[in-house]
Amino acid sequence: MKKDNLIYNNFSLKILSVLSVISVVIFLLRCKEVILIKLDGIFYLILLNFRVNKRDFIMKEKELLIGAHTSAAGGVHHALLNGAEIGATTIQLFTASQRRWANKPIDQEEVVRWHQALAETGLKEIMSHDSYLINLGCPDEELLVKSRLAFKEEIDRCHQLDITYLNFHPGAAKSGEVEHCLDLIVESLLQLEGLINQGPTRMLLEATAGQGSAVGHRFEHLAYIIERVRGRIPIGVCIDTCHIFVAGYDLRTPQAFETTINDFDRIVGMQHLYAFHVNDSAKGVGSRVDRHRSLGEGEIGLECFKQLMTHPKTKNVSKYLETPEGPVKWKEEIKLLRQYAAT
Ligand SMILES: [Zn+2]
Ligand SMILES: [Zn+2]
Repeated sequence: MKKDNLIYNNFSLKILSVLSVISVVIFLLRCKEVILIKLDGIFYLILLNFRVNKRDFIMKEKELLIGAHTSAAGGVHHALLNGAEIGATTIQLFTASQRRWANKPIDQEEVVRWHQALAETGLKEIMSHDSYLINLGCPDEELLVKSRLAFKEEIDRCHQLDITYLNFHPGAAKSGEVEHCLDLIVESLLQLEGLINQGPTRMLLEATAGQGSAVGHRFEHLAYIIERVRGRIPIGVCIDTCHIFVAGYDLRTPQAFETTINDFDRIVGMQHLYAFHVNDSAKGVGSRVDRHRSLGEGEIGLECFKQLMTHPKTKNVSKYLETPEGPVKWKEEIKLLRQYAAT
């Protein structure tokens, strides 16, 4: 510490010096060098090589992102405003009709309104859910071509809106083989490699319930696809708690939750997990029937959601409710999840 050129010429300056010394003591643990200088009668305290406490940094950096799939009726920016109203810090939306093949790009005025609403609400890590019609692993050539085109248009809309994640159901094998379906999904994604890499949107494979011939209900299916596209496109997974539960991965007790998360980590890898769909389930473990319920009102029960918000591997992962009761209930559920996180 340099004190050579300090002049203590009046009482207030002495007080200032004392305060500076106290500051130095406080910050000394975090700074390698502290210099006190006087310029035009004013003392300046210069802190050099300020050490950032890594843990504080991560805690501040990673605010809890919890939201719901909100309605985009009247224009996509309404999904953001609807999210802000229920206390969400992120949302999921449909960027277009989820039950129609042909959808236009979003018009420029709506894109401007979206970016304004995004700035105003401060929502982050926005997720789009693709159309239910799309099957990127469809063995039927005509439907596969249609699916690929609709998915390309979905990516275009995500890029228009600077969307962080595009969540999609991997596909359904129909009468074909599961492995062939998975290979077609890989091929579909790699065909769009150029386009995907032009924008900010990460593709998230949604873990499915395994209804009918849908693939993606085994962690091995997700790993199979990731293994073949990673490094070429930004890829990841969104775990739906209802889906994996009915697919056979138990979540009801802390032990079951731990086992399921460890299975995911071993087979897919936690580094690929970017989001959760947070839903209770009307149907039992292993039933492979996808019926969402409000939190605590289904077969999974609240303990799972407590674990989700406190387990070090899942607490900071973004979460999106798709529970059936709508905005009033979502507001309560978001509050509940935040309360769990604070325990
Ligand atoms: Zn879904
Ligand atoms: Zn579902």
